[in-house]
Amino acid sequence: MKKQRRQFLSQLTSKIAGLGAMAAAPVLTQAASQSSSHISVKNIRISREPNKTRLVFDLDGPVEHSLFSLHKPERLVVDIKKTRLIDSGVLQELHSRQLKSIRIGVRNTHDLRVVLDLKSRTTPSSFLLEPKGNNGHRLVVDVKEQASSSSSKYKEMAKKKSLRDVVVAIDAGHGGNDPGATGRLGTHEKNVTLQIARRLKKEIDATKGMRGELIRSKDRFMRLRDRIKKAHEIDADLMISIHADSFPDVRARGASVYALSVSGATSESARLLAEKENKVDLLFGDVNLNHQDKMVRQVLLDLSLTGTIESSLDIGDEVLKELGRVGRVHKKKVQQAGFAVLKAPNIPAILLETAFISNPKEERKLRSSAHQNKLAKAILRGVNDYFSRKAPPGTWLSEAQDHYVIKKGDTLADISDKYSLPVSHLRTRNSLRSDDLRIGKKLYIPAS
Ligand SMILES: [Zn+2]
Repeated sequence: MKKQRRQFLSQLTSKIAGLGAMAAAPVLTQAASQSSSHISVKNIRISREPNKTRLVFDLDGPVEHSLFSLHKPERLVVDIKKTRLIDSGVLQELHSRQLKSIRIGVRNTHDLRVVLDLKSRTTPSSFLLEPKGNNGHRLVVDVKEQASSSSSKYKEMAKKKSLRDVVVAIDAGHGGNDPGATGRLGTHEKNVTLQIARRLKKEIDATKGMRGELIRSKDRFMRLRDRIKKAHEIDADLMISIHADSFPDVRARGASVYALSVSGATSESARLLAEKENKVDLLFGDVNLNHQDKMVRQVLLDLSLTGTIESSLDIGDEVLKELGRVGRVHKKKVQQAGFAVLKAPNIPAILLETAFISNPKEERKLRSSAHQNKLAKAILRGVNDYFSRKAPPGTWLSEAQDHYVIKKGDTLADISDKYSLPVSHLRTRNSLRSDDLRIGKKLYIPAS
């Protein structure tokens, strides 16, 4: 009976709060609620992002809490059970683009009621963090502007600072009357390359700050020249050409990564492969390769391109490393060759031979959606690793998000502590496969 009555009273309090009674809520002083069984809020920290505000309550023990929103005016109410605030002085500093002010009251004698006065409608969320390192128990409350207003505001901001997505051109090799290599089970290279390309686009599009664009989205023939042209038209920051290898010896296996080379092929096999892939145009297209080569060669002479080739090798390294985690690699180093498709001036480009379609075991893998997904995820991780270090200036990846550059002695636990984030969030955002950190690498700090 008593419990029921208390419940009723607490519901009533919420209702009253909804009617605006909270405006009169008294600020809690040290004198209020001195019971030793109380948890103390020792400090409240704020961090501000363009469309989000994060409050971190530093606590001296674990708490139970709940949140609810009130509208017109917009407020978020955070109830923390059996808790008190040590110093209300901290409240003055707590304002942001989303947060007008913060008020604290006592509820049910023992509980702390925190009212956030908001500037617009938000989507709130919260989570608790266990003690770690120098930090004790923490309650983290996020208020994020709601999609409609936040996306328009974000667009505004993006426009102002012209922050754009990193664009990855995904080129599915071959197509139409050019099937590419054909496996013993009858699999055409052109089909698996398109399937992997589509999966890769999905992975890239799901990554904030990145956009994937398919050079060809259906089974059609495209000249290499037109593929490069398209990559330019969409202002790609990177072009990934997807292929599957073939070799007379069915035992040949593994993935290879190629990058553009100015000086020539690194090996005879790379040269032969480049010739084979380039031959497509001679067989099916009407483009004069010699003419094109001349044009491209001229551009290649430009020293500014040195950076592009270095970037291609750099991205190639990251992708090769990730491919090595989902399967065998054919050669442990990024190969260089003069692929026509890679001669996109000023766009770093890599060509992936995802596996040997001429090897029945690998052919079967190439056909499986599970393996295709693994490949797509591995490629994304490689690309992400590269752009997390070297995002082009003016992109959202380079500017609009918090990042942390790893220093000697850092651990993932330390960094997640510093930003009051679960380690898993850091791992996911940065596509980390292990907790080993590379000094100098940029770690993205996820928004939520
Ligand atoms: Zn091919």
